Amino acid sequence: MLPDPSEARLTVDLDALAANHAFLKSQAGAAEVAPVVKADAYGLGLAPVARRLWAEGARTFFVARLAEGERLREALSPEAPTIYVLDGCPPGAAERLAAADLVPVLNSLPQLEAWATAASRRRLPAALHVDTGMNRLGLRPEEVAALVAAPDRLGGLDVGLVMSHLACAEVPEHPLNRAQLEAFRKAAAHFPHARKSLANSAGIFLGEDYRFDMVRPGISLYGGGPLGRPDSRLRAVATLEAPILQVRAVGSGETVGYGAAYTAETPGRIAVLAAGYADGVLRSQSPGGYGWTGGMSHPFRGRISMDLIAMDLSGRPDAKAGDLVELLGADALLDEQAAAGGTVAYELLVRIGARARRTYVGEASWTRR
Ligand SMILES: *Cc1c(COP(=O)(O)O)cnc(C)c1O
Repeated sequence: MLPDPSEARLTVDLDALAANHAFLKSQAGAAEVAPVVKADAYGLGLAPVARRLWAEGARTFFVARLAEGERLREALSPEAPTIYVLDGCPPGAAERLAAADLVPVLNSLPQLEAWATAASRRRLPAALHVDTGMNRLGLRPEEVAALVAAPDRLGGLDVGLVMSHLACAEVPEHPLNRAQLEAFRKAAAHFPHARKSLANSAGIFLGEDYRFDMVRPGISLYGGGPLGRPDSRLRAVATLEAPILQVRAVGSGETVGYGAAYTAETPGRIAVLAAGYADGVLRSQSPGGYGWTGGMSHPFRGRISMDLIAMDLSGRPDAKAGDLVELLGADALLDEQAAAGGTVAYELLVRIGARARRTYVGEASWTRR
């Protein structure tokens, strides 16, 4: 299909991804950087993202779901990355996990039993998730202790990785960070031969203590600041742009858009952009969000609708229909736009709509031998 001149476009800059990967490596010390590419690489495209990261030297990846692991295995074939599945081994998953050579991050004793049963016919690798205070996934420390006391429950499992996940890493002074670190050290000490992993993006910046053998960054690879605010050391990977469809004058006292949610106090100019919540700009991003064009930011006005956004153009007599407006990118900052919408960079990235036309910059060449 030919490009539609009025559609929103998403450019995924894989050179920026590579630069962020290199930066995180420089911060991770001796720990391996194992990218998290769950949810279609945070909405940016599993295969192109993973292939470029492989080209940059990444050899270990994390996904959330079994099917994501199968897709990743396929996308990186014939190379042989280690792929961990954070959902672990839910009922019915064991044979498919084994068939695709995926390593489940075992989250509970029933999961452990299911994988150990599959491993009774062959030796299978496994990772263990220890819950150290988040109360989401993972074995409780007392379950780990019970397991260590009865090692045959592990059967033929080869536990090569013990991991946990931080609940408050983006708040460095939060006391739960230290408490989780101590609980993790204790639990992990039961597995002297396994590698250890605790830190996500934000955890990398909590200090060397938190890095262990492997770190698992997601959001900061994709340009989100580790502290939930823009970090100039990271580059924007996703650029979302939309053209101006129409520039219109509004008189003082007139309202703009659905619900008449914005009233112009003075005569002004409004740009109507060809993007809306169907393209992934959240309805909650107005008021508060902005577009960037001509070297300036311009606040959104009134409600964001499915296909359209109204944006203030006062003071910009030169702007005209067809001009591109950045909605996310190097100037329209991901963390700021997310905060304006009452959410986090993660959610904004994964909501970039299927309608936005995608272009990749810096794709790794990939041939199947
Ligand atoms: C999503 C996830 C990560 C990555 O977190 P970021 O904050 O995106 O760096 C790491 N570990 C686990 C267990 C996760 O679920």
